[in-house]
Amino acid sequence: MVVVTEPGTSEKQIEEIIRVLNEHGFDVHRSTGVQQTVLGAIGVHPEFDHRQIELLSGVAEVLRITEPYKLASRTFKREGSIFDIGGLKIGGNNVVVIAGPCAVENEKQIFTIAEAVARSGARILRGGAFKPRTSPYSFQGLGEDGLKMMRAAADEYKLKIVTEVMDKSQITLVEKYADILQIGARNMQNFTFLRELGTASKPVLLKRGQAATIDEWLMSAEYVLSGGNHQVILCERGIRTFETATRNTLDISAIPVVQKKSHLPIIADPSHGIGIRDKVIQMARACVAAGADGIMVEVHHDPDHAKSDGAQSLFPDQFAQMMKEVRLIAEAIGRTIG
Ligand code: PEP
Ligand code: MN
Repeated sequence: MVVVTEPGTSEKQIEEIIRVLNEHGFDVHRSTGVQQTVLGAIGVHPEFDHRQIELLSGVAEVLRITEPYKLASRTFKREGSIFDIGGLKIGGNNVVVIAGPCAVENEKQIFTIAEAVARSGARILRGGAFKPRTSPYSFQGLGEDGLKMMRAAADEYKLKIVTEVMDKSQITLVEKYADILQIGARNMQNFTFLRELGTASKPVLLKRGQAATIDEWLMSAEYVLSGGNHQVILCERGIRTFETATRNTLDISAIPVVQKKSHLPIIADPSHGIGIRDKVIQMARACVAAGADGIMVEVHHDPDHAKSDGAQSLFPDQFAQMMKEVRLIAEAIGRTIG
């Protein structure tokens, strides 16, 4: 932590700041400038609330230089993590494509979509069997029946599965069918749930909360990692901003920022990120160009009749076109889609 004093701060005030830092266990390295004094507070005290120093008289600024998370940070693990999910690599040079409907609706639907996305090169089938809906009256998902249909479709077309778990009571059931457990944006800070996921046997895809900062998101990943589950994949899915022209604002800048801060793979979901079908492909291209380790898109063969998120779902032929384009972009930056 670095403490910068205001110009004109008295020696007595500086001594008081140093005394408080020492009292909390920090060693202090002092550097006196013409106008301001800079105090380097040395020591690792994760519980310390830096606002206690901000409040002291004469303090202009307090800068935290060590991250509050450990297991998720690049400092802890220098090289990027690569997870092997039944032979499929997430992270490293590979850019994985996850595709499928918002929700599993019936057998014909999930088989039709699985066949189309597999043909174009997707490796993981997405689709919710438990759906977090804003309205309790909206379609809530097919539950275990949906999971069964999805597993059968994925096996038929040699795909892996990612599907949402909404509550800790569903973990054991979803683990039986899924290869990756998706944690939705609305659950990103459900800390008791995150702790439970620390003991899950399957990797976790942790979506960014709608109003979460990158550090809050990484702290949520830390909950899962510290519980013993080392396979956490981050997913940028758009955040709430003042902009109303799009469903969310896809924070593409989060991709390189997270990659600097953390060793965990990060993928992006342009479908929820922008929420409008005819703009999803452009955003998918941008995510791959920005260095995402994967993209997740919603695809539906009959989006006008989809039970959820039809307006942001690509038609299968649009998905095929997107794949062609992202392959070229991945190649241009020395990566491969696979
Ligand atoms: C979804 O992937 O369909 C979904 C509900 O995502 P999010 O949690 O990002 O809204
Ligand atoms: Mn959706």
